[in-house]
Amino acid sequence: MLKKFERYPLTFGPTPIEKLDRLSAHLGGKVEIFAKREDCNSGLAFGGNKLRKLEYIIPDAIASDADTLVTVGGVQSNHTRMVAAVAAKIGMKCLLVQESWVPHDDVVYDRVGNILLSRIMGAEVRLVEEDFDIGIRRSWEKALYDVKARGGIPYAIPAGASVHPYGGFGYVGFAEEVHAQEKQLGFKFDFIVVCTVTGSTHAGMLVGFAIDGRHRNVIGIDASATPSQTRAQVLDIAQYTAELVDLGMEVADDDVVLLEEYAGPRYGIPSEETKEAIRLCARLEGMITDPVYEGKSMHGMIDLVQKGFFPKGSRVLFAHLGGAPAINGYGYTFRNG
Ligand SMILES: *Cc1c(COP(=O)(O)O)cnc(C)c1O
Repeated sequence: MLKKFERYPLTFGPTPIEKLDRLSAHLGGKVEIFAKREDCNSGLAFGGNKLRKLEYIIPDAIASDADTLVTVGGVQSNHTRMVAAVAAKIGMKCLLVQESWVPHDDVVYDRVGNILLSRIMGAEVRLVEEDFDIGIRRSWEKALYDVKARGGIPYAIPAGASVHPYGGFGYVGFAEEVHAQEKQLGFKFDFIVVCTVTGSTHAGMLVGFAIDGRHRNVIGIDASATPSQTRAQVLDIAQYTAELVDLGMEVADDDVVLLEEYAGPRYGIPSEETKEAIRLCARLEGMITDPVYEGKSMHGMIDLVQKGFFPKGSRVLFAHLGGAPAINGYGYTFRNG
């Protein structure tokens, strides 16, 4: 579906699919759980899902003659770290607007993890007092203006690389990759579990898995805690992505499966159950998930298995999208493990 679109390689290639035997057994052995390790997808600053999206956006940035990538996220945004890494790799400057999306008071929160890495990679980091919102931001528009005012040419990448015409392509590619891996494995996954916030990861998968009618088996676990906005954004991105890749099928509102009950208490703040899911997965599988994103989708998947949401014998693919660097901002939360 993506042949006609240019891709700038930023990842190692297909990501491994790993069976989580001990977690599957711990949860009763009724379903088989696998993880697709998007968190290990690149040598660029620890990798993650944003790189798959950026592979289809960067050719446009290069063609635009820009000299500065400009984007926005929270203080511990994985996305801004990935944009900083890509800017370094392709020889552009980088301006990051880091908003105070998360009311979290760890003393080193704005010094460690993602923001630390972005600073080391030479990005200009701008800390801004603004609350969480996945839409287009004023602070970001101001940053674009400032780059122009100093004689630069900015290329604007929206939060999470999502609301961009090409933002959904990366995860259409993910679905195509899973299809090819399923041929080798000799079976198909019954469900795909994905953490959803700015929406293009989920939207791309929805389009990619619609090819063989599995789009409603993509189970989005909301981590935004603003689910109606996230849901609308997933639908919107899925619709225009479907059109661009000639899916030949209308995507409708009820094709977006987004479970809302695991996001609390709010974006970036983990519940007790999320912290327990992070510990459980780490202790059974040595697989690190974070309090903002995959800890929440891991919590959701565990709860769904325990509630019998997945029929007996199902094969469930957990999309591990990255995010481990942010855990450094939660040193106090996990001070006793
Ligand atoms: C951005 C991100 C997500 C959510 O992906 P969206 O495309 O924004 O919905 C999930 N996990 C990690 C680690 C992320 O960085």
